[in-house]
Amino acid sequence: MKLTLCQDHIPTPTPICAWNVKKAFVDMNITKLLVKGQPGAATIVYEYIKGTYDEGLLKIFTDGAKSQAGAAGAFYISKSIYGAKSSGKNSSSFTAELVGIQLAIDWANGNAHQDILLLVDCLSALQAIQEMELKSHHLIGKIVQGIHALKGRGIGVVLVWIPGHSGIHGNEKADLLAKTEADSPALQDDEPSLTSKEIIKIIRTHVYEEWNSRFTGSETAEHFKKFVPDVYSAVSLFEMPKKSQSILFRLQTGHCGLRAHLNRIGLSDSPNCEWCNELEDVSHYVMHCRKYRRQRKALINKCSHLKVPMKLEVLLTDVRLFKDVIDFTLSTNAVI
Ligand SMILES: [Zn+2]
Repeated sequence: MKLTLCQDHIPTPTPICAWNVKKAFVDMNITKLLVKGQPGAATIVYEYIKGTYDEGLLKIFTDGAKSQAGAAGAFYISKSIYGAKSSGKNSSSFTAELVGIQLAIDWANGNAHQDILLLVDCLSALQAIQEMELKSHHLIGKIVQGIHALKGRGIGVVLVWIPGHSGIHGNEKADLLAKTEADSPALQDDEPSLTSKEIIKIIRTHVYEEWNSRFTGSETAEHFKKFVPDVYSAVSLFEMPKKSQSILFRLQTGHCGLRAHLNRIGLSDSPNCEWCNELEDVSHYVMHCRKYRRQRKALINKCSHLKVPMKLEVLLTDVRLFKDVIDFTLSTNAVI
C-alpha cells in the first residue's frame, strides 16, 4: 500500500491574508424545519429555498461517499455539468464530503458568473467551514480561500444545509456520482489527501491485525487467552490505570490472594473460604461467596442491563464489564 501524507503539517504560503478572509455564509435553518422521520422533507427544502433565495442563483449540490473500495466527493449542477474525484481509498467520509465541496468551488472559480447556492448534506463539514477550523482539516483552508476568491470576482456564495437521502434530485445525483467514483477500482492506489489522523488510523489497524493474528496463532499463554481472547481486549486492558490492570490480571490468571491459590503455594493451611467453607477460588469469590452478596448486586444489575449472562468467563472477558468487576473487588476490601 502506498501512503502519501498530505501537507497539513507544513505551513503553505497563503495567497490571501487569513485576516482578510471573512467567514463563509452558512445557512443551517433547514435543520430547524425538519422533524426526524417525517415524510415530505424534499418539499419543505424546496419551499424554504424558493422563499429565501433569488431564483437566479446557481444551485450546486455536493456530496461525499465511502465504500469498501474507496471514497470520493462529487458535485452536480445539471445533466451536462458535474464532477467527481477520489478522496483516497482510506480517507474518511468527512474528507470525501470536503473533496466534493472543494471540487464545486474550484469549478465555480473557473466557470461561474453568478451568485451560488451550495447545497450540502454534511453538517460537520459546514460547521468546520463556517468556523474556519483550519487545523481540523487541510481542505478547510482551501475551501475558505476558494470562496474568498469567488467573492473577489463579485460572486457571492451561500452554503446551505439540506438533508441527505430525502429525494432531493440534485442531492441524489451528487450522491450517485460520489458513490460511483468511490467504487471505481482504478482509484484503489490513489491516496491524494490523507490527513495525519487518517494515516495513524490505517497504521494502527494494520499493526493490530498483524499482532492479533500472531497472538491468536501462537500456542503460548493458553490460560491468559481464556480471558483475553484477542489483542483488542488486551489493549483495552493496558489502557486502564495500573492498579485496575493488576486486579483484573490477578482474577483472570487465578494467581491472587484467595485461599485456593495461597494454599497451593503453601501460604495458607486451607484452600477453603472461612465464611462458606467452600473452595475459595476466583469463581467462588466473584460469583458465590455469601460474604459479598450486597456488593455483587451492582454486577448482577450491569449484566442484566447489558443482556449478558452473569458468568465468570463473561465478567472477565467482556471489556464493558471490566470496570464493574474492578469496582466490585475494591468494594469487598478483599486482598486480591
Ligand atoms: Zn465464601
